[in-house]
Amino acid sequence: MRVDVFTIFPSIVNNFCSESLLGKCRESGLLDLRNHDLREHTNDVHRTVDDSPFGGGAGMVMRAEPIFASVEAAQPPRPLFLLSPGGRRFDQAFAHELAATHEGPSGGFSLLCGRYEGIDHRVREHLVDGEISIGDVVLSGGEVAACLIIEAVTRLLPGAMGNAQSPVTESFGSTNLLEEPHFTRPADFRGWEVPDVLRGGNHAQVERWRLAQALHRTISQRPDLIEARNGLSNDELALLEEFPAIPYP
Ligand code: SAH
Repeated sequence: MRVDVFTIFPSIVNNFCSESLLGKCRESGLLDLRNHDLREHTNDVHRTVDDSPFGGGAGMVMRAEPIFASVEAAQPPRPLFLLSPGGRRFDQAFAHELAATHEGPSGGFSLLCGRYEGIDHRVREHLVDGEISIGDVVLSGGEVAACLIIEAVTRLLPGAMGNAQSPVTESFGSTNLLEEPHFTRPADFRGWEVPDVLRGGNHAQVERWRLAQALHRTISQRPDLIEARNGLSNDELALLEEFPAIPYP
């Protein structure tokens, strides 16, 4: 999958995306990440990418020319998204949609990072295909949002993760529940013991316990997810009775 990022801080994105799983995916060729420095498409000695807003007011606005020039030179994979607090909210379903672009005609997608007060509106109107927000919060630039999106999407690519089941069973996976709690050795840590069922070796029982705990946790921490799947089935209600919730803070 090719991902092009347009930014005035290419090193932020490049450095973050060189470590751990992302670094490995770039080495293996699964992720072809290309960071473009918008300043390379300026033609004054100060390499200016911003200017003051028409109509006055606080802050600076990113100029349209370097952004258009950089995108036109790179011919990046489409869709090209502007990162913006007003965009469509990024979530796991959106991550799956973006991962699927690797099978599309351009084999990926692209991200444009804003800075300052934002960008000249003509970029929004005439250059990008959509806008993505990572949540109702305001960052100083789109780079951290780009890193977050690239990480969430790349791990969904076939072959990115060792265990092919991971994206299915984890939170917001196919069941749309939060994940059940995990434990590892020691079985007794400071007197806090691992639930017996996980040590009993009965795999069917372990799976039932896990589903019950995923349901309990989702009911207590994210009741909106339960509502979105139209409540609980009779089988699920029976499971909750059979296995009580383990404590949460
Ligand atoms: N003045 C703008 C905020 C600009 S913040 C406003 O009020 O909406 C500067 C840049 O940071 C934005 O252009 C965008 O690229 C990025 N950014 C800030 N918050 C973001 C968010 N929640 N999601 C994605 N990008 C964001």
